[in-house]
Parts: sequence; C-alpha cells; structure tokens
Amino acid sequence: MEPDAAEIAPEVEVRRSRRRTRTVTAFRERGRVVVAIPARFSRAEEAAWVERMVARLERTERRRRPSDDELVTRAARLSSTYLGGAVRPTSVAWVGNQGRRWGSCSPSNGSIRISDRLRGMPTWVLDYVLLHELAHLVDAGHGPAFWALLEGYPHTERARGFLSGVSFAQQDGSAGGDGFADADGFGDDDDGFGDDGDADDVLAGPRA
Ligand SMILES: [Zn+2]
Repeated sequence: MEPDAAEIAPEVEVRRSRRRTRTVTAFRERGRVVVAIPARFSRAEEAAWVERMVARLERTERRRRPSDDELVTRAARLSSTYLGGAVRPTSVAWVGNQGRRWGSCSPSNGSIRISDRLRGMPTWVLDYVLLHELAHLVDAGHGPAFWALLEGYPHTERARGFLSGVSFAQQDGSAGGDGFADADGFGDDDDGFGDDGDADDVLAGPRA
C-alpha cells in the first residue's frame, strides 16, 4: 500500500478556551489539526480527547476523500465525459509532497498526482484538478488549446476561483508566494478546510 497522509500522525495544536465549557471540537487549520477543549480539562483529559478527536476527524476525512482507486475511476469517468475518453492515465494517486501545487502529471509516463491538500474539498473542485491534469497529458502548456480541453467541464471557472480563494486565505508570512508563481496557477499552501466549528462539536460531558 502507498503511504497515506491519514497514516502519518498529524501535528496537533491544543487550544484551551474558557468560553468552551462542555464541548470539544477538532478541525484542520494551516496543515495542523486544532483540538479545542474546555480550559478546565486536566492533562489526562486533554490527551484522551486529542486522541479521540484526531481519530474522529480522520474517519470523517476518509469518508469524504476518495481512495487512490476511486481517483482512478473518477479520472476515467472525467476523461470519457469531457475528453472523449482519449486520455488514459497510467496511475492517479494522492500525494503529500506537492508543495504549492494542487496537482501534477508526467506526460512521459502518463502518471497523475493529486495533492492531499484537496481532501475534504467539494468534489467539483477535485474533479476540476483531475481534469486539469488529464488535459495536461494532451497539452503540457496553459495556452488556448489547453483551456479549450476544459471547456466542457461546467465548473472550471468556479473551481479556479475557489482554489484562488483558498490560496489567498492561506497566505501568511511563511508562504511567501503570490499564489501564481507556479506553472499551474494553482496556489499556495494548504487546505484549511476543517470541519466547521460548532456544527462538529462533540459534547464532552459524558467523558469529562
Ligand atoms: Zn496546469
């Protein structure tokens, strides 16, 4: 099996909150998992809840994130729907070392890599990145002929805007880039898509 990001222990930041009295929540922020807990928790409670919430977050993300096999199936469907089925990648896989890029491909061997920073993003964004890389197996550039390949996909402009927004929101001093530096026009740093605050709070009462 390929190493998978979910199998690598994430960097965790614990935030103690006086306003938080009975709930615990976990979300991703700038590549870290943030676990917010009530200020009154003991160190033992903190440790137990961090373990529980990180496991819970990863379960949720696995449900939302297709496996490599599903990526292959998805890419094949996108190819047949929007590129006439002409493009058949030899492999499609999640990878964790894409730097600023959302995706990349090797036209020489037909492989496609998708940044695991896309996990948890809407499927129409993931599909856009897949289709973008599929199109690069036909045309390596970003000229009119390349964009013409993506014309059939109805969410191209929306997905590009979405990813630009993510890049913009995630820029901080450490990122250093302008989000347009790399060849793909795909942005900087990180997914930043955690579960959203209160909606995912877990009541700490019974265990506290
Ligand atoms: Zn590109």
